[in-house]
Amino acid sequence: MVDAKSIKEKVSKKISNAKSKISSHLPSHKHCRMCGVTIDSKADPRICKDEECIAKLEKRERNDKMMRIMFYVFAVAFGIPIILSLRM
Ligand SMILES: [Zn+2]
Repeated sequence: MVDAKSIKEKVSKKISNAKSKISSHLPSHKHCRMCGVTIDSKADPRICKDEECIAKLEKRERNDKMMRIMFYVFAVAFGIPIILSLRM
């Protein structure tokens, strides 16, 4: 029988080995979160200077914020009635 788990472990080990080999040869750098282009390691936020990428990051951050707000709204909307009904 084929042991899928051990094969998976071997493969992931090989991948991580290959990754560490590659990264050890390259000077410290980062990739743009949006387009993947190589950028300065000190770049903050982690994107290139492309206007499209800056706009995308802003959009994503807005979406993240919206998701967080929605989460809190839902937590309050569902959490409070549950807590109240438990206390009754
Ligand atoms: Zn970019």
